[in-house]
Amino acid sequence: MSNIDVTSVLLNEQDGRIPSVNFITLGCAKNEVDSADMQRRLVSAGFAIVDDAEDADAVIVNTCSFIQAAIEESIDVILEVAGLANIADGSSKLIVAGCMPARFGDDLESELNEASAFVPCSKEDDIVEVVQRTLGVNPAPFARVDVESGPAAAYVKISDGCNRFCSFCSIPYIRGRYHSFPYERIRASVEQCIAEGSVEITLIGQDTGCWGSDFEEKSTTAQLLSNLAEEFPDTWFRIMYVEPDGITDELLDAIAAHDNVCDYLDMPLQHANPELLKSMRRKGSAPEFLKLLERIRTRVPGITLRTTLITGFPGETEEAFDELMEFLEEADFDYVGVFPYSREEGTRAYDLPDQVEEELKVARAQEVRDLCDAVGSVHTADRIGKELDVLVLGAEEDGQLFGRAMCQAPDVDGVVYVDGGEVGEIVRVTIVDTLAYDMEGEIIHG
Ligand code: SF4
Repeated sequence: MSNIDVTSVLLNEQDGRIPSVNFITLGCAKNEVDSADMQRRLVSAGFAIVDDAEDADAVIVNTCSFIQAAIEESIDVILEVAGLANIADGSSKLIVAGCMPARFGDDLESELNEASAFVPCSKEDDIVEVVQRTLGVNPAPFARVDVESGPAAAYVKISDGCNRFCSFCSIPYIRGRYHSFPYERIRASVEQCIAEGSVEITLIGQDTGCWGSDFEEKSTTAQLLSNLAEEFPDTWFRIMYVEPDGITDELLDAIAAHDNVCDYLDMPLQHANPELLKSMRRKGSAPEFLKLLERIRTRVPGITLRTTLITGFPGETEEAFDELMEFLEEADFDYVGVFPYSREEGTRAYDLPDQVEEELKVARAQEVRDLCDAVGSVHTADRIGKELDVLVLGAEEDGQLFGRAMCQAPDVDGVVYVDGGEVGEIVRVTIVDTLAYDMEGEIIHG
């Protein structure tokens, strides 16, 4: 969801002094959605959201602790904020939210005296109470909250937590057990985003393919997508992070059946060697994944496919890595995200034998990237001469408009530069050129 329009706070006429909050959001899109939810709650409760931490009564750092690098970044940012004059002299308060308090609990509280409050992910719904208590204020709620047009594309979370406990991953410890959000809640979020100007909604969660499996009256991700696509026919929907066993024929048919559901799937595979996958506490093998890809491409011809991989997981031998590379050549993905294995304390893989040298993990990740970039940029170049719908998202500093086609997920797959259209408009273009994953499109007039 987009940020709340700060001007709406002018509606609060309680005493002319509106307590203000600044947000710094780190990590993934799921954190951005959480921050937007917290902002909405705070604005409704009478707080202003401001852009500058030095102007705020409270600064909320929404942290990420997924991997070591994210933890280090979160700590750097927290310490930077703690050093601001208004925080250091106690006139403003620092609140640490999100994954770090969820993962490190009391240990974090005892080590970070600079922070006045800690809000783990599971307690973010209580943010208003926490900020009120921390600042000692209780502003009057707004009689009306106006929102201006938000960005043309938005994320909506459909679930939280995860039950899989992959051996390298800290998410289940941070976010807790998997729980699907009820349809009505998702629908309300989608409606809100559309009211704010969104034309594309990307549905996210940790394990989106099992949505509805935990309801008393069970449902499926396919049903969710179909219902949303039919209720909001002018909005594009895209689903991210579907684990391989969540890619059912029903889901593929729902994608194929709706013109406003992007023919796009992002499926984290992590590796292709069966022994390593087993050690990751995951399932699959190169032949099984190739069969899955064939099934997907048969049921949804022309679908765009993305995956995520880890290199240098403990026990990854030269042979296992070669198997991954061979698989990737055959799999022919459009986009691949690859990360060197990060050894996370508290996860089962932390103590596994045969840890791989840091340099080798990074070098292997680069090898995967080089191969997949070569494959992916050819896929992109193949679009030259083709017609695509592009959702115009904004303009660069020099005025150059850009947007995204259905084959491009937000933030990861490049953009299409276009020669006209308004932000929030879907324009039909012919692709005339490409550079790596970016494309250039000319509007088809008449
Ligand atoms: S499925 Fe994803 S979020 Fe869940 S444990 Fe595995 S890697 Fe982590």
